[in-house]
Amino acid sequence: MNSKNNYYDVVIAGQGAAAFAAGLYSARYQMDTLIIGETFGGETATGGLIENYPGYPEIDGFDLMLKFKEQVEKYDVPIVDDKVDSVKKQDGLFKVNTFGGETFSAGSVILAVGRDRRTLNLQNEEEWVGRGVSYCSTCDAPMHKNNVVAIVGGGNAAVEGAILLARYASEVYLIYRKGKFTRPEPIILEQLNQSQNIHQVMSTNVTQLHGTDGLDSISIDKAYNGVSKLDVDGIFIEIGADPRVEIPNQLNLELNEKNEVIVDSAMKTNMDGIFAAGDLCNSSGDLKQTITAASQGAIAATSSYHYIMNLKSS
Ligand SMILES: Cc1cc2nc3c(=O)[nH]c(=O)nc-3n(C[C@H](O)[C@H](O)[C@H](O)COP(=O)(O)OP(=O)(O)OC[C@H]3O[C@@H](n4cnc5c(N)ncnc54)[C@H](O)[C@@H]3O)c2cc1C
Repeated sequence: MNSKNNYYDVVIAGQGAAAFAAGLYSARYQMDTLIIGETFGGETATGGLIENYPGYPEIDGFDLMLKFKEQVEKYDVPIVDDKVDSVKKQDGLFKVNTFGGETFSAGSVILAVGRDRRTLNLQNEEEWVGRGVSYCSTCDAPMHKNNVVAIVGGGNAAVEGAILLARYASEVYLIYRKGKFTRPEPIILEQLNQSQNIHQVMSTNVTQLHGTDGLDSISIDKAYNGVSKLDVDGIFIEIGADPRVEIPNQLNLELNEKNEVIVDSAMKTNMDGIFAAGDLCNSSGDLKQTITAASQGAIAATSSYHYIMNLKSS
């Protein structure tokens, strides 16, 4: 898809599932399309084995993202490895600047820049993702059949994650830094309290991860049943994620209480011509997965196409 004077019908920010799906659909609508993304593949590419993307019973996340990218490249969509610095509305179009110093003009923009996961900042935490450390119980719980696992956090995601894990693992330590769960819904807390194999380890922090080539135990700062080193096969860190709102804030986009960009069912934000998709937005609630990001990318591209068609005919 070639552009004239650096103009594109749609500029897509991101290089994850939402961005590539948006790029594929935009190209097939024959829009001049440009993808600008910081890191190839986004979270999916670093998430390890994916077992819940339909059509692929088991695929490494990196390989799945390569397939997404190759399919987009079939339509000659240019992909710029860079980070979008700013998006500004100017004379009915959008001016998109990158940190690399390039400027593009766009009829519409799809923001698919995802979220930053909160981490515990422990030694080996990043290195052992996929080797005992996980940030997603929905994704990885089935890999822990009959294992002993820990899950850290006190919100809905952590407590629901513990309940899900307890269906696979033999024992689950739910570790929370505060003394009482206040955020999860009462019905979720009732399920938690009924569970036979979840240990509620309260007012406790994880201080160290131990192992050689992956996790085999964790240290906690307050002994539980007299033990301050717990043998575990996995730890799930479910302490939240922060949507990347630098660009949404520049554009004064409406955000919800979780700082997610608010979109309608067509992935439209409160600003004409700006669409959002994937983990950045509120579209699929707490279910933030590769498949939801991809589907939202497709919908955003479709809405952007209608927007551009209207713009060109007016
Ligand atoms: C450890 C882990 C395991 C997971 N496992 C699974 C699983 O098994 N199955 C599943 O369905 N889901 C899984 N997920 C969730 C899934 O990876 C996400 O839901 C999905 O990646 C969201 O896609 P996205 O495109 O919205 O965002 P992301 O994948 O986060 O992509 C965002 C993209 O935007 C780029 N970016 C950031 N800022 C800018 C900027 N300013 N300008 C341009 N680009 C920018 C990033 O570099 C990245 O390329 C997992 C997540 C994690 C963390």
